[in-house]
Amino acid sequence: MNIVIFGPPGAGKGTQSKFLVQKFNLNQLSTGDLLRKEIKNNTDLGKKISSIINSGELVSDEIVGNLIEKFISDEKVKNNIIFDGYPRTLNQAKNLEELLKKNNQKIDIVLKLSVSLEIVKKRISERKNQEKRADDNEEIAIKRYKTYEQSSAQVLEHYKQLNLLKIVNGEASISEINTEISGLIEAIKG
Ligand code: AMP
Repeated sequence: MNIVIFGPPGAGKGTQSKFLVQKFNLNQLSTGDLLRKEIKNNTDLGKKISSIINSGELVSDEIVGNLIEKFISDEKVKNNIIFDGYPRTLNQAKNLEELLKKNNQKIDIVLKLSVSLEIVKKRISERKNQEKRADDNEEIAIKRYKTYEQSSAQVLEHYKQLNLLKIVNGEASISEINTEISGLIEAIKG
C-alpha cells in the first residue's frame, strides 16, 4: 500500500508518518528530510536549495522529482511507501502518478491533516526548540503556510476527483489521529 500524507507545515505529517511506518511496516519518504540532509552534508544541491527552504518557498518540481524517483524505483520499498510532504503541487501529483505507474504501483489513499494557521504557529514555536530547524520561526512558518495554501487546493481537488482523499482533523491529539488514520487504512486494506 502507498499512502500520501498531506497538510500544512506543523500539521503532524512527520509524526503520523512515523507512527504509520511502525504500525504498517511502511517506508517513509520525506522530501523535507531528504532536502535537509543535502543541506547538512553541504552538497552542491544543498548549497543551491538552502536559501529557498529558509525563505519558506518550494524548491523546484524537478529537484524533488529526482529525489523521489530514486526512492520509488527501489524494489525493497515497493508498494510500501508513505509519501510525507510530496506531492505539494499539482504538477508533482501528476509526476508521482506517472512514476508509480512506470514502477507498477499506485496511490491507495491520501490523508489530509487539516490544521489552522493559529495552531501551526503554536506547534512550530514548540518544535523550534526540539528540532532546531532553520525554517521553524514564526515569520517563515507563516510564509510556508501561505505557500501551502497557494498550491494545496489544486492537489486536493485532484485527489478528491480520484476518490482517494480522506480529510482528518489534524488539531485532535496525536493518539486520536493515530486511531483515526489507522481505521481509514484498515478499511481500504480490507
Ligand atoms: P517539510 O519538512 O515537508 O516541511 O519541508 C521543508 C521545506 O522543504 C519546504 O518548506 C520546502 O521548501 C521544501 N520541500 C519539501 N518538500 C517539497 C516538495 N515536495 N516540493 C517542493 N519543496 C519541498
